[in-house]
Amino acid sequence: MTKTIAALTVLVFLAGLAAEAQQPSGPPVATKLKDRVYWVKGGNGANTGFVVGTNGVLVIDAKTTTEACQAMLAEIRKVTPLPVKTVVLTHSDGDHVNGLAGFPKGLTIIAHENTRKDMQEAFKDPKLAALLPYLPTRTITGNRPVEEMDGTIRYKFTYSGPAHTSGDLVVFLPAQKIAFIGDLVFVGRDPLIHRQKGGTSIGLVQVLNNILTLDADTFIAGHTEPLTKADIRAALASIQEKQAKVKALIQEGKSLDDIKKVLGLAEVPGQPVRRFPNLIEIMYLEQTEKK
Ligand SMILES: [Zn+2]
Repeated sequence: MTKTIAALTVLVFLAGLAAEAQQPSGPPVATKLKDRVYWVKGGNGANTGFVVGTNGVLVIDAKTTTEACQAMLAEIRKVTPLPVKTVVLTHSDGDHVNGLAGFPKGLTIIAHENTRKDMQEAFKDPKLAALLPYLPTRTITGNRPVEEMDGTIRYKFTYSGPAHTSGDLVVFLPAQKIAFIGDLVFVGRDPLIHRQKGGTSIGLVQVLNNILTLDADTFIAGHTEPLTKADIRAALASIQEKQAKVKALIQEGKSLDDIKKVLGLAEVPGQPVRRFPNLIEIMYLEQTEKK
């Protein structure tokens, strides 16, 4: 029984990764957002970003493979000869952290403490052992934003509770009005909530509301083009609308299967069965589980 649950958990996790791994093919390409600030699309893994400071470069996220990370470093070298000194991780998913071995060892690696825990667990896999020297060296805890200056660049690292995972960190550059938000927003599909990593849709609503309070006009998410506040508002509204529908149906006494049917998400005979819980299922579980 326990084995079955473990196997299912692995399947759920892999399916989650597969859902996130749909990236444009080809090498990563860096695009300037503002003076000193770039985002890097493509390559194997999620979008990343980098900021050219006075003495070194700060990179946000690490792609999925060593090769993709090195290709990203080649993009950085086209912009500056300064070395990468710091890496900030938005969360622990493989398409954001598994490329870390492409960086030289000994960097400052910043992440939320829950992200570090997830990474420590994931890197027990012998296939990921090369990543053990890249566990975060500095962890962020609590909900108070951590402010930092690097030369003329001001950073705010913000954590506002579990959402996509239990360790989503937002990197905000107040002067440039740019925020790197990891996988807190998807476009053209439902948000992905890693319930097995402590993610929640209720938390996601709170975190998106917090993101909307930032004085930013450009938001870089892991799997889409740069976003505006209007895009974040639309994503938030769609989640809240679905939560309200699920709540109303639960109050009518409907079962999860009924709710899926009503919302057009029932399994179709002959179609592959979803191996990871979809958003509606997660919302149902959140609203019915005993606190
Ligand atoms: Zn993710």
